[in-house]
Amino acid sequence: MHSATEPSFRESVDLMFKRATALMDLSPGLEEKIRICNSTYTVRFGVRLRGDIQTFTGYRSVHSEHMEPVKGGIRYALSVNQDEVEALAALMTYKCALVETPFGGSKGGLCIDPRAWDEHELEQITRRFAYELIKRDLINPAQNVPAPDMGTGEREMAWIADQYARMNTTDINAKACVTGKPPHAGGIQGRVEATGRGVQYALREFFRHKEDKAKAGLSGDLDAKRVIIQGLGNVGYHAAKFLSEEDGCKVVAVIERDGALLDDKGLDVEAIFQWIKAHGTIKAFPHAIYTENGAAVLEHDCDILIPAALEGVINLGNAARIRAPLIVEAANGPITFGADEILRQKGIVIIPDMFANAGGVTVSYFEWVKNLSHIRFGRMQRRAEEARHHVLVEELEKLSADKGLGWTLSPGFKDKYLKGAGELELVRSGLDDTMRGAYQAMRDVWHGRNDVTDLRVAAYIVSIGRVATTYRSKGL
Ligand code: NAD
Repeated sequence: MHSATEPSFRESVDLMFKRATALMDLSPGLEEKIRICNSTYTVRFGVRLRGDIQTFTGYRSVHSEHMEPVKGGIRYALSVNQDEVEALAALMTYKCALVETPFGGSKGGLCIDPRAWDEHELEQITRRFAYELIKRDLINPAQNVPAPDMGTGEREMAWIADQYARMNTTDINAKACVTGKPPHAGGIQGRVEATGRGVQYALREFFRHKEDKAKAGLSGDLDAKRVIIQGLGNVGYHAAKFLSEEDGCKVVAVIERDGALLDDKGLDVEAIFQWIKAHGTIKAFPHAIYTENGAAVLEHDCDILIPAALEGVINLGNAARIRAPLIVEAANGPITFGADEILRQKGIVIIPDMFANAGGVTVSYFEWVKNLSHIRFGRMQRRAEEARHHVLVEELEKLSADKGLGWTLSPGFKDKYLKGAGELELVRSGLDDTMRGAYQAMRDVWHGRNDVTDLRVAAYIVSIGRVATTYRSKGL
């Protein structure tokens, strides 16, 4: 995505890192240790398909092992290369530190167009790739735990988990070797939508702070805010759906790989998603205006721009023309280093990727803990909690009757109050708490230091500081 005049994705991440470390007091040696990528494994393997041997190239990069296991998604796309996985692995290190999930950073990728293969073929390819990584401990519950990313989802994670279990028949913690599995295969409720849900919680938290909104020239709440979203995949679809259905946002444009759909009155995200599922394209969707040049729609007028597809989409070529006052980086690295500078000069507020899309790794953490503890969250306490609430409600009702006070509980209160939290409620609560906590940590730096003027540098300062503390306490 980057042009010859721009740094590569990995260089872009490095430059952003250096903007932050210039404001920190780290020894040059420690700074270098944190920044560099520890290792990248490249594998080329063959799978017999369609009557011939097909060769595939895959990567698993480990950026930092200051905490183990290391964590990061596996991406299936033709654009996958070493530079990209190393950039994404570095972002995982900083992201995990920012949201306090106890992992180092990693990332993997397979250079493949997943749409070019049918399900059975993809299973063979995935199992073979997983085999190569498992035998080198690059998939392992204690050392390296992948998750879904672009082009992969629950299905691929279930194959990987099964492949690991077949190769490690006595490992009682086998299920914890990968996250993002479907619930019936050891997954957790709420993981599929976690990244999109996290984007929603990130925006809600931003909108709780009047001064922060004011920096973007915005006011009020999310209701009726005009949103443009790029990429209606796992992250983009859920973010757009929740923001429009639950917070009253108006999704005025959806940009996909084959163009964009527009409607100033607000698009029906679910209807578009179902249309794409049925037709494989956004073209001919009947309830919106279609334009072929999707990338140009990034430059349209709106309140919140959410790139949720891939890296480098806002670059030196279009940054000056971006009009959104607030950009939420739901994708990893959607803004290049050069573009970031232009946008900042224009006064645009950017909620950075390492925070905005951290919902995925946060709920992956919960899934990993669930797998290691071998019990569903809420199973022990849910009914006890309900029983205690019952006692209170019954006591109130008895008091009212005994004393003739005529108190009545409002309709719906009892149902809501009596219900103990199940796994999904607990996951959402944990995610919300995490997103709020991480935002506060960034915000304290953003507002608390004169030399910090943007959330990205604030986020890097918080996370690099935490990684440095871990290294120092190890005696490195
Ligand atoms: P996905 O494969 O589910 O969806 C990507 C979407 O983007 C697809 O709908 C695709 O058609 C669209 N797209 C591709 N190229 C495009 C283009 N040029 N213009 C417009 N749309 C285009 O992937 P995802 O899991 O939603 O990941 C999206 C981004 O979010 C990636 O940067 C990924 O690293 C990041 N992310 C994902 C997760 C997760 O849990 N899945 C977590 C954190 C970050």
